[in-house]
Amino acid sequence: MSNYATILVAVDLSEDSNRILQRARGVASGAAAQLHIIHVIEPLSFAYGGDIPMDFSGIQDEIYQQATQQLKRFAENNGVDEAHRHIVMGRPEVEIHAKAEELAADLIVVGSHGRHGLALLMGSTANGVLHGAKRDVLAVRVGQEK
Ligand code: AMP
Repeated sequence: MSNYATILVAVDLSEDSNRILQRARGVASGAAAQLHIIHVIEPLSFAYGGDIPMDFSGIQDEIYQQATQQLKRFAENNGVDEAHRHIVMGRPEVEIHAKAEELAADLIVVGSHGRHGLALLMGSTANGVLHGAKRDVLAVRVGQEK
């Protein structure tokens, strides 16, 4: 099997993101792959749209600006240049797949919390990404039991 050429790392900008990126780096350095990072912002209207008759645009702009700054900081601390970082609005699993398609990535790297019980039933981003994936997916174990 040939090595990975383009790797897309999905980051939620929590502390786990460093660990996930490190793992991806391990795979990328062996394979001399291009490494991209993506952060997805879920529109507030997805969660509250029909329920609360309110204009979310101001808050949404604020969230977008803050996330952009956070991603920039994270990327700069980890030596990822502007061309290799992406911020988009939408549902994480949908947008992660779309960006992987656009970049022709051959590996997606996500964190996975190894949930149990109810949380497991409710699903996770890692499960969402894995479902219907047209490329390899590396789920990096994160959370308390590392
Ligand atoms: P979760 O299932 O939400 O606990 O997230 C597990 C993993 O999915 C995270 O470690 C990230 O790799 C990815 N992920 C979750 N939310 C986002 C997001 N908004 N943008 C990009 N990746 C995300």
